[in-house]
Amino acid sequence: MTFHVVTLFPEMFDSYLGESILARAIKEKKIKVSFYNPRMYVTGKYKKVWPDGNVSRIVDDRPYGGGPGMVLRAEPVLKAVESALKKIKIQREKRKEKYEIKIINFSPSGKKFATDYAKKTAKKYTDVILICGRYEGIDSRVAKILRAEDISIGDYVLTGGEVPAMVLIDSMSRQIEGVLGKFESLEEERVSSSEFYTRPEVLEYKGKKHRVPKVLLSGDHKKIDAWKGKGKQA
Ligand code: SAH
Repeated sequence: MTFHVVTLFPEMFDSYLGESILARAIKEKKIKVSFYNPRMYVTGKYKKVWPDGNVSRIVDDRPYGGGPGMVLRAEPVLKAVESALKKIKIQREKRKEKYEIKIINFSPSGKKFATDYAKKTAKKYTDVILICGRYEGIDSRVAKILRAEDISIGDYVLTGGEVPAMVLIDSMSRQIEGVLGKFESLEEERVSSSEFYTRPEVLEYKGKKHRVPKVLLSGDHKKIDAWKGKGKQA
């Protein structure tokens, strides 16, 4: 699975993808994450070269109809996505691999993201393009032109689509074989609960003793599963 992230702030992903299970998954080539920055695709009057040689690339503009905040312009975002599409085609065809592409656009008013969606998407697609908005959002023509699916990670408004993209990458990666360790993936299929305990059996904290539920120490796996599980963890 390759995730293609269209973002103005690719560095935001470094620390999250650089640690623990996702870092291992990338190292072991179970997943791949590449970035496309719309700023790099700014041309025309929005690209200014100053006398000192510095270059400004302006990605946003004022909203039609007025209102506060700036809107991310369609052109650089479309060009970034085009570049992702081109790269997918070239690389997959070079390796004679079949590919299925899904384009996701983050929006607080989109379809609510859930594990079931992560599972289905991870199964069906080889390449997922994730478009991260910023400011007021991206010119709405982008999602329409690309027939992208609007996805929300919850009923709150964030400052950008980068955290939603990380949520999707994390959640979908867990569904890809070999990303979780052997033990952990087995765990996925077992009855598990939302309560967890480890050593010590009796935890003393501020003069009080806190014990592990007795059933978990019983060794009776039928009972333990019954205690744990009104249902499997997603
Ligand atoms: N003015 C917009 C909010 C823009 S928030 C509105 O009222 O709908 C800026 C960007 O952050 C959005 O374009 C989107 O990409 C991202 N974003 C914010 N909250 C989100 C959420 N809950 N789920 C997914 N993306 C979100």
